[in-house]
Amino acid sequence: MKSTSIKITLILCSFLLIISCKKSDDSEPIADYKAENRKSLGLSAEEILSSNTYSKITVEFVYFGLYRPTDLTISRFRDFLGERLNKPEGITIRETSVPEVQGSPFTTAELISVEDENRTAYTSGDTIAVYVFFANGVSSNDTNNRVTLGTAYLNTSIVVYEKTLQALAASNPSIELSTIETTTLQHEFGHILGLVNLLDDDIHSEHMDTGHPKHCKVEDCLMYFESNSRSKVLERFSGRVAFPELDPLCIADLQAKGGL
Ligand SMILES: [Zn+2]
Ligand SMILES: [Zn+2]
Repeated sequence: MKSTSIKITLILCSFLLIISCKKSDDSEPIADYKAENRKSLGLSAEEILSSNTYSKITVEFVYFGLYRPTDLTISRFRDFLGERLNKPEGITIRETSVPEVQGSPFTTAELISVEDENRTAYTSGDTIAVYVFFANGVSSNDTNNRVTLGTAYLNTSIVVYEKTLQALAASNPSIELSTIETTTLQHEFGHILGLVNLLDDDIHSEHMDTGHPKHCKVEDCLMYFESNSRSKVLERFSGRVAFPELDPLCIADLQAKGGL
C-alpha cells in the first residue's frame, strides 16, 4: 500500500517535471523586449492606472541639455501621477540626458526612431514604463500660424515640444513656462490613460466633445480641446499661472479602469 502510493507520487512528480520543463520552454522571453511599448494609443490605459498587472511605474524623461522641463513641472507631474495611478510599489521618474537630437522638424516616424535610439526604460516584470521626449525641436505639422505643443503617439510614448514651449515663453513675458509645460505634459498623459473615450470604452461618454473627438467638453478640464492656432495658444496661456485639472467625469472614467 505504502509502496503503491510512493509509486503514484513518483509518477505524478515526473509528470509535473515534464510539464514544467515544457512550460519553461514555451514561455521563453519575447525576443522583442520593446513589444509591450509598441502598441496603439490608449491600449495600456488600464495597465497604467490599475495595480492588476503592474504594481510599479517608471516614467522616463529624455532630453538634451537645457530642454529639461522645469523642477516645478516635474514635481506637479509627480503629484498628478500619485493622485491618479494605483501603483502601490511606487512611481519613479527617471531622467535620461542625451546628445542633441537631430532631425527637427519631427514626423511621427522620426519620433519613433528617436525613441528607439534613446529610450532606456521598457515595460518588464512588475513595472510598466512610459517615455516622454522633451524635444529640442518642433513638430513637422507646425506652420507660421499653427503650433503643436505635444503629442501622445503610442500606448506609452509622448513627445512634448519643449523647444516650442520655451520659444513661446521667451517671446511672451506673460507666459509662464511651467504652466504651459505642466498643461502639455499632463494633457498628453491623459490621452495615454485613454481620455476621452479613446477606445469607446469609457463609462461617461457624454462628456466627450463631439466637435473634437477624444477631448472633453468641460471647458476648464485638462482634457478640453485647445486650438493649435498660434494666436489662440498665446491668448490661452497669457497671464495664466493656474493650470487646468481633470474634471470629475474624466476622473470617474480613470477610476472605472482601476485608477485612484
Ligand atoms: Zn489632446
Ligand atoms: Zn474632462
